[in-house]
Amino acid sequence: MDDIVRDILEIGKLLYEKGYIVATDGNISALIDQKRIIITPSGLRKEKLSEDDLVVVDRNGNIVKGKHKPSSEIYMHLGIYEKRKDVRAIIHAHPPHATAYSFVMPREYTPQLVETRDLVGKINFVPYREPGTQDLAMEVREKIKDSLALVLHKHGVVVGGKDLWDAFSRLERLEFEMKIRMMRRSFT
Ligand code: 13P
Ligand code: ZN
Repeated sequence: MDDIVRDILEIGKLLYEKGYIVATDGNISALIDQKRIIITPSGLRKEKLSEDDLVVVDRNGNIVKGKHKPSSEIYMHLGIYEKRKDVRAIIHAHPPHATAYSFVMPREYTPQLVETRDLVGKINFVPYREPGTQDLAMEVREKIKDSLALVLHKHGVVVGGKDLWDAFSRLERLEFEMKIRMMRRSFT
């Protein structure tokens, strides 16, 4: 549990430092055990969190511990844990290159870089649904079945992993792929 808390706080800082989130964007969660999930609070800056800002919920989203509301994307996180038993950590962020690509992305995308292909595999597109809604959670539940990296139309990305660092590496690789994809277009 202490390790998970430390990793969530560190990743909150990294998301901000790397420009994957601005202001109060993004959310991070992990399974504590089969019954409990620890998740970042809603509407707070994720690089400034301390341990007692984090919220523990059960598999239905009921608060077990914490003084804040859980992330507004709680249903998206719960849905992914329900669908993918191999996922124990989830990160949602708004990295600029992947978010920009979301405006023109086809239904799925096969990475061009071998490192992305190895770690991320196929990337699925999720059509626009209002952030923080059950609608978005339902779409994500469908698209997560055969991909651990989803691009959300006009919004951002969500990735799953076997632990928090696995999810974070997947997010880094996804954003790097999109950055290179965009940059290579400026060469003639
Ligand atoms: P929360 O602060 O409620 O987690 O929302 C951030 C976000 O990115 C919503 O899509
Ligand atoms: Zn978001």
